[in-house]
Amino acid sequence: MREIENLKQAILEDYPRMSENDKFKFSCRPGVSCFNNCCGDVNIFLTPYDILRLKNRLGISSDEFLDEYTLTPIDKNQNYPVILLKMQENENKTCHFVSEKGCTVYEDRPWACRYYPVGLASPKEDDKKDDEDFFFILREDICQGFDEGDQEWTIAEWRRDQGLEKYDEFGRLFKEITLHDYFDRGKQLDVPRMELFHMACYNLDKFRDFIFSSTFLKRFDLEEGLLDKIKNDDEELLRFGFRWLKFALFAEKTIKIKPEALSG
Ligand code: SF4
Ligand code: SF4
Repeated sequence: MREIENLKQAILEDYPRMSENDKFKFSCRPGVSCFNNCCGDVNIFLTPYDILRLKNRLGISSDEFLDEYTLTPIDKNQNYPVILLKMQENENKTCHFVSEKGCTVYEDRPWACRYYPVGLASPKEDDKKDDEDFFFILREDICQGFDEGDQEWTIAEWRRDQGLEKYDEFGRLFKEITLHDYFDRGKQLDVPRMELFHMACYNLDKFRDFIFSSTFLKRFDLEEGLLDKIKNDDEELLRFGFRWLKFALFAEKTIKIKPEALSG
């Protein structure tokens, strides 16, 4: 984790800051000399939407996905739990999803794999509240994509090409939780609320079970039609999860309590 912290610091302080219309040259395709080099021994943080896409792609439950393919590093300075994609225990620590032909979950690959070699930094995470998010280019020795052809992209074109719209939409919703003012005030989540965060963000099947099998529906008044949506649609469930977390973690009035629950 120290390595990651150092890289974050260098990005915020030294890397040229880019915006949507800035250009870079990059070409990645089967046949490049470094093909698959980037799919091993790498720290990939998974977002809630990454996990949703991957567990559905693999046709397994979120519990199974978390057990089999992820790590949850513990750091007492973290505001909230984070999830890392687990690499295999072989010599090159390769990703579970890489094959000779490339990524076997390509259409559902994580946010970080899509953006690479572009990065998106949020200075607010490091308490520089006046700074806006910015893009940057991550140049690594393992990647020859900058020298293999001269295809030119703007950052906006790259994001479109990599299918990032939906990932960015859910990324923005996630940041409303992870960059909440609550943390700026120096507050920390206790263990039960860390567990709620983990469930609503990362373990959607468990969250759905919690809604439909606990006293949740006796206590909260959900809009008409919403129950059907969250019963059958993981994306709707995740959107609702972010809303629920604002209520459960930060006491925002994002969910209505039933009058009978208040009086009881
Ligand atoms: S998910 Fe796919 S693109 Fe990302 S590291 Fe694994 S094999 Fe590579
Ligand atoms: S060009 Fe870079 S991103 Fe593409 S396969 Fe090579 S190392 Fe990976």
